[in-house]
Amino acid sequence: MSKGEDRRQIIFNKFRDNLNLLIDNGFVTADKDVYLCPICLRPHNDLNSNDPLTLEDAPPKSLGGSANTLTCKSCNNTAGHKIDFHLTERLREIDSGKFIPGTETEVKVNIDGQTFQGKITVAEDGTMTMFHSKKNNHPEKLDKTMEQINGGKIINMDFLKSRVIPENLEYALLKTGYLMMFERFGYSLLLDNCFDIIRQQLKNPEERVYPEGFWFSPPYPKSMTGVYFICDKGLECFVAMFNLDTGNTERMFGTMLPLPLKPISEVIENLNKKFRTEGSQITLTLYPLEQDNLKYLYDVPNLKAMYDWIAKRKNLC
Ligand SMILES: [Zn+2]
Repeated sequence: MSKGEDRRQIIFNKFRDNLNLLIDNGFVTADKDVYLCPICLRPHNDLNSNDPLTLEDAPPKSLGGSANTLTCKSCNNTAGHKIDFHLTERLREIDSGKFIPGTETEVKVNIDGQTFQGKITVAEDGTMTMFHSKKNNHPEKLDKTMEQINGGKIINMDFLKSRVIPENLEYALLKTGYLMMFERFGYSLLLDNCFDIIRQQLKNPEERVYPEGFWFSPPYPKSMTGVYFICDKGLECFVAMFNLDTGNTERMFGTMLPLPLKPISEVIENLNKKFRTEGSQITLTLYPLEQDNLKYLYDVPNLKAMYDWIAKRKNLC
């Protein structure tokens, strides 16, 4: 058995055993002795029949992740080419110091949710100037946005290079968060249909279904990497936090994932409202706390406590 084969079998057994335990304790209903691909939920009796199970990295290996789950070869291919590429590429672009004095760069820039085309020139003293021509942009929208900028509004500018599809970059963050949740909690909540929206998004990156504003840059240290519940009322969701390392720079990201309590679109809206009003002063109640490090794959009392918490919260929602 090769090293990769070995690793695949270990992961296969780990999640098959988790599913069996959940079934035996009456937590979920499913067929026994299988591995379900987290992206398409198709059952696999072994590693290599028809659509083989392949190692999947969350975060992507190129950004410091390591193989921790398995997905069908076909799911892995779709996600790899259509999604992960855009994240790796984008972070490399930011790193590569494209904005060197004396240069001119064609950019697409996203200002307040609207995309404009333009050109950035960097003077010898490092001053950056951005030009937007009316020819390439919607003239009225451009005027309106420029007025706001002149008014001293703080804008969130986000340079988008042409090779990267911004939505797909976001889906790569979604996929990383989702697979991290699977790694930590196994099938205990994954089979709930509140996650269908994520699976649909990852299988079909061409069409946006997951609500915008689901990811953020958490102001937390790298040690906070992990998957937590946000317990505050109206904000109940999973938040997966992870560090992406290009080899040159590291950045923390957080993604909001559903809990079987409230539609994720509502939660994301509420959380974004809170971000806007509280800014960096934001406080959220996370569970488990970092130091608790509770296990969920085989620990029946922990699982029971989680299901009870959700059931109790459901009555209040
Ligand atoms: Zn699959």
